[in-house]
Amino acid sequence: MSQVSPKVGFVSLGCPKALVDSERILTQLKVEGYEIVPSYGAADAVVVNTCGFIDAAVQESLDAIGEALHENGKVIVTGCLGKRSELIREAYPDVLAITGPQDYASVMQAVHSALPPKRNPLLDIIPDTGVKLTPKHYAYLKISEGCNHRCSFCIIPSMRGDLVSRPVDEVLLEAERLVKGGVKELLVISQDTSAYGVDVKYAERQWRDKSYRTRMTELCEGLSELGVWTRLHYVYPYPHVDEVMPLMAEGKILPYLDIPFQHASPRILKLMKRPGNIDKTLERIRNWRKLVPDLTIRSTFIVGFPGETDAEFNELLDFLREAELDRVGAFAYSPVDGAKANELPGAVSEELKEDRLEQFMAVQAEISAAKLQRKIGRTMKVLVDEAGADGAVARSAADAPEIDGVVHVANGQLLKAGQFVDVVIEDADEHDLHARLAG
Ligand code: SF4
Repeated sequence: MSQVSPKVGFVSLGCPKALVDSERILTQLKVEGYEIVPSYGAADAVVVNTCGFIDAAVQESLDAIGEALHENGKVIVTGCLGKRSELIREAYPDVLAITGPQDYASVMQAVHSALPPKRNPLLDIIPDTGVKLTPKHYAYLKISEGCNHRCSFCIIPSMRGDLVSRPVDEVLLEAERLVKGGVKELLVISQDTSAYGVDVKYAERQWRDKSYRTRMTELCEGLSELGVWTRLHYVYPYPHVDEVMPLMAEGKILPYLDIPFQHASPRILKLMKRPGNIDKTLERIRNWRKLVPDLTIRSTFIVGFPGETDAEFNELLDFLREAELDRVGAFAYSPVDGAKANELPGAVSEELKEDRLEQFMAVQAEISAAKLQRKIGRTMKVLVDEAGADGAVARSAADAPEIDGVVHVANGQLLKAGQFVDVVIEDADEHDLHARLAG
C-alpha cells in the first residue's frame, strides 16, 4: 500500500458555530490519515463549509464553491447552505456531493468516495483535543444545534432544525479536554444558550462524581470548576438568566453577556417573534449591574425592520441611551430569502435604513467610547493573544475574540500568547484600550 496520504483542501466560511463543525471534520480527516493542505493546487479534493445566514453569506459561499471548482475541480459542499442543495446544483452541477450542517458522517462518506483513505497508523497521531482553527488558548464550545424559535427574519431553524442539546457531561468532558490541551478561555455558543437543555427536559448527568442538569446555570457551574475563563454568547433575556449573576459576582464565569436584543420596541419585537421577556429589560439590566457592577453587555440590533416607524426607531435610540450597553453591532434589515418577515407590510426604503443605521451607530459610538474612557487608571487582568516587537495584544473580561476590542500592552514584547497578566489602563480610543504591565 502506498504511504502517500490523500490531500484535502478545506475552506471554512460562516459563524463560530460553522467553525466548530469545520474543526470536527478536520479532526476526523486527520484521524483517517488525510493530509490537510493549504492550496487548491496541492489538494486532491476540496471541502467547502458554507454559510447561508444572509444573502451576502450565500453569495460568498457560492463564490467560494465556484472558485474551488475552477481551481481544483473536485468539490464537496457542506454546512448551512447545503440545506439548499437545489441552489448549489443549479449554479454548479459538477460538485461531487452536498451535505448539510453537522452532518459529519455524510461529509466523510463523500470524501471517502472521492478519495479512498490510505490509512497509516503511524501517521495517525492526533492530539486529544482535535484540530482547532481558533488559536490554541481559546476555543468555542458548541452546546447545542438548531433552534426552537421562529424569529421572522431568520431561516436558521429551517436549515438547522429544532433545538438538539448536547448532554451536559459530554460538553463538560470536551471542555476538560480543551483545558488540558492548553485552552484558557471557553466561548460557549449555540443559537440560544439560555434554552440549553429544554429539549432533553434538563436531563441529569454525572461529571467528576457530581450530578449536573443539562441546563445553562448548571453547565456554568461545571465549567467554573475548570479554572479558566468562561464567556457566554447568544443568551436571551429569560428570567433564569438572573441565576448566573451570582456566578459572575463570585468570579466563577466572566461578567460578560452577549444578548442579541435586536430591537427595543415591543411592537417590532413582536413582529420579529423574538424569544424572551422584553417588557422589563431595562429594569433587569439595572438589577444585574447592581449584583455585578463590572458586567459587560454586548448586543446586536436590526434597524429598518418592515413597518418600523420613526417613533419606534426613536424608542430604540432611547433604549440605547438608557441601557448603556458596552458593545453593540447593528445591521440594516436585509430580506433573507425564505424569511417570513419579508411578507410584512411597510418595507423601509434602503435610504432610510442607511440613515437610521448611521444615527444608531453615532449614538452608540459615544456610549461605548465613554464607557472605555472610564476604564483609564484601572488595573485589570488580561489574556494575551499575541506579542511582538510592538508589544502585546490582549483582551480583558470585556472583550470577546474577533468581535470586541482589544487591550494593547505597550511593554508586552516578552509576553506569550495564552498568558494571563495584570495591566494598568493608560488610555482609550473608540474601540480599544492602551495599557502597560502592572507592577
Ligand atoms: S433565536 Fe431566532 S434568530 Fe436566533 S437562530 Fe433562533 S430563530 Fe434564528
